[in-house]
Amino acid sequence: MDHFAYRGGRLFAEDVDLKSLADAVGTPFYCYATATIERHFEVFRSALAASDPLIAYAVKANPNLSVVATLARLGAGADVVSEGEMRRALAAGVPPSRIVFAGVGKTRAEIAAALAADIHQINVESESELHVVSEVATTLGMTAAVVLRVNPGVDAKTHAKISTGLAENKFGIAIDRIPAAYALAASLPGLRPVGVGAHIGSQLTDLAPLEATFATLGDLVGMLRAAGLPVSRVDLGGGLGIPYRAGDPAPPTPADYGALVARATAGWNVQLQCEPGRLIVGNAGVLVSRVVTVKTGGARTFVVVDAAMNDLLRPSLYGAWHDIRAVAPPGETMTATIVGPVCETGDTFAEDRLLDAVGPGDLVAFMTAGAYGATMASTYNSRPLVPEVLVRGSDYSVVRPRESIAAQLARERIAPWLVAPVAPPI
Ligand code: PLP
Repeated sequence: MDHFAYRGGRLFAEDVDLKSLADAVGTPFYCYATATIERHFEVFRSALAASDPLIAYAVKANPNLSVVATLARLGAGADVVSEGEMRRALAAGVPPSRIVFAGVGKTRAEIAAALAADIHQINVESESELHVVSEVATTLGMTAAVVLRVNPGVDAKTHAKISTGLAENKFGIAIDRIPAAYALAASLPGLRPVGVGAHIGSQLTDLAPLEATFATLGDLVGMLRAAGLPVSRVDLGGGLGIPYRAGDPAPPTPADYGALVARATAGWNVQLQCEPGRLIVGNAGVLVSRVVTVKTGGARTFVVVDAAMNDLLRPSLYGAWHDIRAVAPPGETMTATIVGPVCETGDTFAEDRLLDAVGPGDLVAFMTAGAYGATMASTYNSRPLVPEVLVRGSDYSVVRPRESIAAQLARERIAPWLVAPVAPPI
């Protein structure tokens, strides 16, 4: 479900015509629909109402300040994995009491910043990190509420690069070591172990791995309590998949997920936490791009657009699919390979794709680009970061302006020995 639809032959974001928006802000640009963000959050919240979890939006999915602020106003917390994300969440109005700091390689400085900000909890990923958090907290004269991230050894059945719950993955503490690690946490100064958590991967299209993970977490809660250790929170992670490709089987709904959570966690008597990212913002964003040229006559027809892998990395990185629609479809179709201008063959959005017929100057929208889109962008090939626009009804705001080439150059310095003019060759 999203709020991008055709009206009078043109693609709109809510009540904003994407062609007019492209004329106003230039291309490429990301466009987010407030109504979709709000709807997805509310659908997720009501699907889980019986379990009443803290919903900590995974900021990594889309860290734009206005996106996070939209969710903060609805009462969302934030799952952050760096000091930068924590500062963003705070700047966007997320109360510290709803911020969870996760991540496999937190630095001492980041841990200190999290403690100073008095956030809800730190999710710890190793025994060695327990010692570090203990040391930092003790130095600051504070006590850190910590949740131990479990690596449950469960195959999430998603893309290998976004699978995080297998024993060979870098994330979390192996399940058989959790009881000892929890006891260690309880014994270390400056630490207050409050629970366990798991996140087994992203874009999950099957609930069975989540069910297995939740069962494992439930067993752990019982085991830890039997050992006299207090458990008051369980973090269920994020990961619920979303539809990317029209016609693909629908992933489990938030209602299916909510029913599973209620069933699996009955009797746990803990505060539950969830960390959805993609589910909230994925379908709330598109990347709008203009066709630069169409190359014909070779082995393939190439549609070269002005967006590239540096703007939307998912197709190159994961072979991910994004539906591609003409902003003003002519009613005819073509088969083409859609590529960007970056000097890599991997700068390919779609191969031999049947799509609306487009020509130079036409606009296309890469759908479902709201999660892991703009946030993964880089300036490769010295391409400036593209703008992000938030739409609300018939209103819009450029919530991150286009970076200028001058600003990009101004971020760098010429080494002093290179500043002097070069003597001309004799
Ligand atoms: N929580 C953690 C610890 C994560 O690593 C991630 C994503 O990688 C998420 C939550 C959000 O996942 P998703 O966007 O699939 O919901």
